[in-house]
Amino acid sequence: MKRLWSDDLSELEPYSPGEQMFSRDVIKLNTNENPYPPSQSALDKIRDKLHSNLRLYPDPDNFKLKSAIAGLHAIHPESVFVGNGSDEVLAHIFRGLFKKKKPLLFPDITYSFYPSYCNLFGIKYNRIKLDANFCIDFRMYNNQCGGIIFPNPNAPTGIGVKKRDIEAFLHTIDYQVPVVIDEAYVDFGGESSIPLVKKYPNLIVSRTLSKSHSLAGLRVGYAIGDADMIEALSRVKNSFNSYPVDALAEAGAIGALQDSTTLAENSMRIRANRDFLIRELEKLEFSVLPSIANFVFVERVGFDGEYLAKRLKEGGILVRNFNNPQRLQPFIRISVGSEIECKKLINLLGKIVKSRQI
Ligand code: PMP
Repeated sequence: MKRLWSDDLSELEPYSPGEQMFSRDVIKLNTNENPYPPSQSALDKIRDKLHSNLRLYPDPDNFKLKSAIAGLHAIHPESVFVGNGSDEVLAHIFRGLFKKKKPLLFPDITYSFYPSYCNLFGIKYNRIKLDANFCIDFRMYNNQCGGIIFPNPNAPTGIGVKKRDIEAFLHTIDYQVPVVIDEAYVDFGGESSIPLVKKYPNLIVSRTLSKSHSLAGLRVGYAIGDADMIEALSRVKNSFNSYPVDALAEAGAIGALQDSTTLAENSMRIRANRDFLIRELEKLEFSVLPSIANFVFVERVGFDGEYLAKRLKEGGILVRNFNNPQRLQPFIRISVGSEIECKKLINLLGKIVKSRQI
């Protein structure tokens, strides 16, 4: 029997997120979540909100949250868009800003949700090859496109681009071409391009509270850009869901964003654990790409990513491996966990490596 699906649905290739396992015995290093708890002030604000009027709809414009974000980045609230995680913000960017007929450009190795959004919204795209060192080669990008998007730092490589190099690139791009920088992981050592937004009306930067603020479960992300582009995103949002950021999420996000101490402390701990992981992985003869994110992308001669991920899973540790493009097959991506999680990972990887060599 013919399925009752709309016409082109069977051609969609949905994004598949990393496995969620809610067992205490599993160490989850597969979805770049933060191992440390979120700001106490975020939790307090959520609790206060629970005792208030959940009977009512939240503010459809999330004005308080936008004002808090605007204050943080010294910009106007009209330059801020908020959504249900940065995935939703990105979806609205794809729908609201990228042209359908001219191809969108993004790296061949990058966040795999980008091609899924293109398929969903009928946007053509070209994947631009990373160079031999897995870096973005801006010389390969030009104005013959309907938009450009890349994460900084990139995922799953963890490699970052300096603000001055981004600015030099933006200089070469026509103002008619929207450029989106996905800064999901910028707080772990990257350089933000938000200060460039005032100068480049075609630049839009997206952020999330899922990683550095330890609030992946709350689902809050935002974008910053010229007010006219932000209006386009609001048009899409208001044609889809008036209240994507609920009252609890808004309250918690404000609490988290106002607590710069917890953000700084947690980011510092992650960076220290990342240094530890890199040192220990190199002792086990892994090659580690130079990550400035809360994950490391690693390979070891003689092993492929699928094998390593499988063996680690058998030992109770989840990491992520990739099959596409082929160049990624040797790698696994390991999220930087707590001190103890990193030690357990190194112990188990050591055993896996040794058992194969005997
Ligand atoms: N961008 C990148 C590069 C990511 O890796 C992720 C997390 N999967 C996101 C955006 C989306 O994060 P969230 O929807 O949790 O804000």
